[in-house]
Amino acid sequence: MSVIDPNQGVSEELLDEFQRRLGLQRSYGLTVNSATNGLHAAYRAVGVGPGSQVAAIGYTFHATVTPALDLGAHPILMDVDSLTGNLRYEEVLRTLNAHPDVQAIGLNHNWGVPCADIERIAELARSRGVPLIEDCSHAHGASVDGLSVGQFGTVSVFSLQSKKLVPAGEGGLCFTDDPVLHAAMLTVGHYGFKRSGPPDDESLQQTGIGGLQNRMHPLAAVLAVSQLRRLGQVLRNREQNAARLRGALHDVPYLTFPELPATNRASHYAFRARYEPKGADGDPLVDVVAALRRAGVPVELDRGGPLTSKTIFQEQVDSPISRLDPTRPLYKDHDLPNAHEFCRRSVIFPVFSRDPTVVRDVIDVIAERIHISRKAVP
Ligand SMILES: *Cc1c(COP(=O)(O)O)cnc(C)c1O
Repeated sequence: MSVIDPNQGVSEELLDEFQRRLGLQRSYGLTVNSATNGLHAAYRAVGVGPGSQVAAIGYTFHATVTPALDLGAHPILMDVDSLTGNLRYEEVLRTLNAHPDVQAIGLNHNWGVPCADIERIAELARSRGVPLIEDCSHAHGASVDGLSVGQFGTVSVFSLQSKKLVPAGEGGLCFTDDPVLHAAMLTVGHYGFKRSGPPDDESLQQTGIGGLQNRMHPLAAVLAVSQLRRLGQVLRNREQNAARLRGALHDVPYLTFPELPATNRASHYAFRARYEPKGADGDPLVDVVAALRRAGVPVELDRGGPLTSKTIFQEQVDSPISRLDPTRPLYKDHDLPNAHEFCRRSVIFPVFSRDPTVVRDVIDVIAERIHISRKAVP
């Protein structure tokens, strides 16, 4: 049952099929048991270790950055664009200029909206010789100027966890064009087995180097391959359903929907509106969301917040599992004002993956309740 060589059997089929379906053209792939472990292998492979400065997006699911923290890195958190929640080129440039010793950049395409500046950020990273770790866990199938997300990172990592767009129960994929990084990630997470053929002289069996075992379960790979067949349809459905919801809510005075550049495509991992307090007579968003929920509208606030709100980035806490850098920078809640604003103004709607003809009525009922509920609020 176990696929010892992570590039054979169903693992190889998954890597090939994933690249084909997403239009990726990366030279090397690796299946892993989670994106967290894939990101860990990626940071480790590019040389992140105790004291390494890592310029990281300050608003994301924490696992974009915590694997580097676990390796002892010194994360420098970067602010995001307040409309999209994604990194801007200028912020990365500013950070690299202020911290010339940065050893890696970590970013995420938040909520499936592809980072619009990713090409310039990748080019900047290349020109400075700083590896870019691209977390694509929200953005399977999203693209920028026709190039699929996952094409830009020195290492690009996707999650296949159950909530993600290609669910395999648990799992992750790493891609790179660099054979040395690929081999290093194999050493970190797969005992050092090389692509095809028996383990070579440098593998764990001879040297004892390596030692973590983060291979993907073959049944998870089978699940992922079957889910990939649905991905195109799921993305089309999400796009159409999101468009219908956006259209039905266009006249709600306290909601706006930031537009993507016409040449970019989102995966709609989440569907977010931006709250405009002026359109609601200055009412706090918590009250508006509470009123909507009372009216039966399934909306939520962003409860995660920027990474600066997490204890591990605020205090020199001791982790029971990691050897954290005792000199790492510490932050306060509002240190990244744009990230804070993005969260504070996010209204999160459900995303509908099913056929538009099936969910059309549900979307219309949601829109109707939103229209009625505001009139009912004094
Ligand atoms: C889910 C997620 C991860 C972690 O993925 P796992 O496969 O559960 O380890 C990492 N980064 C982002 C942005 C995620 O959403």
